[in-house]
Amino acid sequence: MEARKAVVLFSGGQDSTTLLFWAKKHFDQVIAFTIAYGQRHEIELTQAKKIAQIAEVEHVIIPMNFFHYLAPNALTHETIPVEKGLPSSGTLPNTFVPGRNLFFLTAAAAFAYHKNIHDLVGGMCQTDYSGYPDCREPFIQSAEKTLSLAMDFPFKIHTPLMYLTKAQTWQMAKALGCLEIVIEYSHTCYQGERTKRHPWGYGCGECPACLLRKRGFEEAFPC
Ligand code: ZN
Repeated sequence: MEARKAVVLFSGGQDSTTLLFWAKKHFDQVIAFTIAYGQRHEIELTQAKKIAQIAEVEHVIIPMNFFHYLAPNALTHETIPVEKGLPSSGTLPNTFVPGRNLFFLTAAAAFAYHKNIHDLVGGMCQTDYSGYPDCREPFIQSAEKTLSLAMDFPFKIHTPLMYLTKAQTWQMAKALGCLEIVIEYSHTCYQGERTKRHPWGYGCGECPACLLRKRGFEEAFPC
């Protein structure tokens, strides 16, 4: 039987690191696909490289450094501060990058096409997230159809985290045996903070990404 292969959208964060190990379990060959979109902090890419190496998967980094020309936002502009705390429901936080996942999925699909790979894996999740429209299931289904039509090549987009809470994603990491790797190496903090290790990993502990990560961890593994 032909080896099953998958391309994983991989940022080096908690979700996509867990996903990388999920993909390794479900596919024979996994390629970690990282997009350098002009992240404020190089640290994300550094951590992504380390994790891919530990996971022993092929890692490609694609430059896509144009988002700050399209729409200024707090993830690509150092002059725009990330809003503190968790956003109230119904409002999009200023870390929202319009169309980002559509660009990312298109790039991953184009890359996969050339390798004759039909399976894409993404960490989109509509449960805990800040209401990003491109993390919702209807968008993923639509993108799957659009990309398949665009390339005349059937794609399947797997999003195993779609309906999991952050706590459940932590538990998934434990079940997959990659919990320590996620804690030690994955990076989510919007402030690029990595000096002190907390039980849930590194980070400022105050930005929205840290708060979700920390809260999920404490819920998953109450002490
Ligand atoms: Zn933080």
